[in-house]
Amino acid sequence: MALKKLSPYSKNNTDQDRIILFWSNVKKTKSCWIWTGCIDPTGYGKFGFNHKSVRVHRFVWQLVYGPIPKDKQINHHCDNRRCCNPKHLYVGTQKDNVRDQLRRGRRNQRGELNNSVKLNENTVRLIKKHIVRGVKQDIIAEKFNIARTTVSAISTGRSWSWV
Ligand SMILES: [Zn+2]
Repeated sequence: MALKKLSPYSKNNTDQDRIILFWSNVKKTKSCWIWTGCIDPTGYGKFGFNHKSVRVHRFVWQLVYGPIPKDKQINHHCDNRRCCNPKHLYVGTQKDNVRDQLRRGRRNQRGELNNSVKLNENTVRLIKKHIVRGVKQDIIAEKFNIARTTVSAISTGRSWSWV
């Protein structure tokens, strides 16, 4: 079959073509799928679709899971606004988003950054391996220089459950 070359500027593009063009702007890594196109001033990826500017993570959500419920928003588990890995997205509210950030340790109750922000998915995967092997939580905490409560939260799936 002959593949036609798509131009983002062609007026004859079908929705299907636009979706193909859309994915050509996404760089998939093992964890996050990074949008490499335009970024809006708030740090979210944006894309023009049917003469409307759409936010990339919301667009992917709708492609994969369907309509976004009214009065809900699409949040990131991974905290990476340019990411559009459907597995890293969830329907929530603004409140959920803040709570999720707190849980991840991005901010503590006073809104300050704290230590656990240095965790990333690779580290968490490693921590989970230790947990599975039955290594004691305080030993894991010490080894990774994180709070024991963080290890416990990972262990029970209260945080980083998607890793
Ligand atoms: Zn992600």
